[in-house]
Amino acid sequence: MSTAAPAPSPDPTPLSASNPLAAPSALPYELPPFADISLEHCREALLAGMAEQRAEVAALLADPADPTFDNTVVALERSGQLLGRAEAVFWNLASSMASDRLREIEREVAPLSAAHSDALRLDPALFARIDAVHTGRHEAGLDAESLRLVERYHLDFVLAGAGLDDAGREQLRDLNQRLSELSTTFGQNLVVATEAAAVLVTDETELDGLSPAEVQAAAGAAAERGHEGGYLLTLVLPSGQPALAKLRNRELRRRLHEASLSRASAGEHDNGPIAAEMAHLRAVRARLLGFTTHADLIAADQTAETSAAVDELLGALVPPAMANARAEAAVLAEVAAADGVELAAWDWAFYSERVRAERYAVDSAALRPWFELDRVLVDGVFRAAELLYGLTFTPRPDLQGYHPDVRVWEVFADEQPVGLYLGDFFAREGKRGGAWMSSFVHQSGLLGTRPVVFNCLNVTRAAAGQPTLLTLDEVTTLFHEFGHALHGLSSAVTYPRFSGTSVPRDFVEFPSQVNEMWALWPEVLAHYAKHVETGEPLAQETVAAIEAAALWGEGFATVEYLGATLLDQAWHRIGPDTRVTDPQAFEAQALADAGVAFDLVPPRYRTTYFQHVFAGGYSAGYYSYIWSEVLDADTVEWFKENGGLRRANGDVFRDRLLSRGGSVDPLGAFAAVRGRAADTGPLLRRRGLAPAA
Ligand SMILES: [Zn+2]
Repeated sequence: MSTAAPAPSPDPTPLSASNPLAAPSALPYELPPFADISLEHCREALLAGMAEQRAEVAALLADPADPTFDNTVVALERSGQLLGRAEAVFWNLASSMASDRLREIEREVAPLSAAHSDALRLDPALFARIDAVHTGRHEAGLDAESLRLVERYHLDFVLAGAGLDDAGREQLRDLNQRLSELSTTFGQNLVVATEAAAVLVTDETELDGLSPAEVQAAAGAAAERGHEGGYLLTLVLPSGQPALAKLRNRELRRRLHEASLSRASAGEHDNGPIAAEMAHLRAVRARLLGFTTHADLIAADQTAETSAAVDELLGALVPPAMANARAEAAVLAEVAAADGVELAAWDWAFYSERVRAERYAVDSAALRPWFELDRVLVDGVFRAAELLYGLTFTPRPDLQGYHPDVRVWEVFADEQPVGLYLGDFFAREGKRGGAWMSSFVHQSGLLGTRPVVFNCLNVTRAAAGQPTLLTLDEVTTLFHEFGHALHGLSSAVTYPRFSGTSVPRDFVEFPSQVNEMWALWPEVLAHYAKHVETGEPLAQETVAAIEAAALWGEGFATVEYLGATLLDQAWHRIGPDTRVTDPQAFEAQALADAGVAFDLVPPRYRTTYFQHVFAGGYSAGYYSYIWSEVLDADTVEWFKENGGLRRANGDVFRDRLLSRGGSVDPLGAFAAVRGRAADTGPLLRRRGLAPAA
């Protein structure tokens, strides 16, 4: 189909009619018929789905009529439905029910799938049609959402390089290829170097402060690597290591901290030169595609739109965050001095933990009896959604999920059917860690589909017959993930490209973060936080203590985050002619220039282990966490100013923002709710970085 890239040639076997993915499901809301779907069905449908979409695009290109919105953009939007059904099932199973066979299929299909979308987006004939529709878009009588769809498609293709001539496409392919290899090497180096940097301890007394279970885990890790009788402290990804908060032995803290910060920065697995080469190649690619820097290219596809807008936000946060971190350092230095210790970076977490325990006594383990899973979900999460949005949830035990743990609810808004919500809350083998939301069916007016969304958590299952009790963090996570689910369930767009959470990365976390506000909202909390045995409500003083404790350490957290973010930006602001030969010096200079160089608070990630940016698809995008938090904090204030948990507020938030998905300008949707552009004041106050309003 394409002259630009070799088209993949998957198994041309046509899909058998008995494959349950061959046609849209007949179950309510097109819920996939999980009981009938095997992994072989998925594989077959994925391969056939790619072939089907290629045929659909070929037919579109063969249309002798002049390109129009309908015969080109809408036709593309309608294409690939079989592939979409197969991908929704397969990739979600890959996250929550992995098996050896699944991994095998994944290894087979992932490269084909990448080549499939590349071939599509680099097809010059297809781009020529889209470009023609784009040129005439203002004279085509399109509604606002359709106009936006044309612009989105055009930008997607431009960013992929479809507008380049043959030589340019050739160069782009080489750059992408080299970047992909370097990214893989970066990730592999990091795995090896992280293992090598683990700290071996031979004398158990040095581990004073760790729990017996942690000591046992360290002994197990040592034995696994052939250090029988020793203890191995393995490293986690960010700079900060959990054990630093507990270890009483200061010398061991220093060793662990230094091992963490220097990983993958020397020798055979040095990631410094790799990062530098990647930054250079990304700069070359950005220039080829018509952007000044890689950071500008990335921002073009985000709500931020320009790297200058990112600068403006980060620049506003640095001074108050640094002032707050210095104030925290002064408190810690005083506490450490009482031990005869001159505070160093490796002491920070240890003394910070001591301050938290002494000044903000909150025993998080003691809270769990108030947070029984079903009560939190039904009387907390669902209840808040009912009061705000008029949503109700009816269990549908007759509908089956992809695993016996999965429960299905039918969702109604003021008694009108909306979609399905699936909950998959327990950890199990084959399910990846963390928590997330995803969809099996996207709402779309064009395709006449309604949303089928789900949440995955990794809560430890209680012993048989015992209630499942959550930590406060897990409660917050459930509200958060449900916020994404609400985004999907509220969707009321025409085109699937814009459905629900199909919004820029620097915007997608915003509605879910807003939904966290209801977890501790008095009317909601009083309804769900009841002691599992006595039914006694959680005391208001306890809630106040939780809120006060949450502020301690925000100076540190904000500065370490900003350090990593500004480092990410610095690497991706270099021009195509710059070659960084000393990555460590570049890093030090970047932090100093940005005003976040502070020995006591190293960046959350240093260059050589910044996986998000060099091996994880977040290049020049690490800022997005705090970008969406600005919108979140400002919206939380808007809810509070307008009386909080009221249906009228929920209706405004849903109608002007949640329901619009990616179909409108995201910051425009925000302003339509807030009545003005976003302000950083609420975020600074929430993080304790500015006086309360
Ligand atoms: Zn999220």
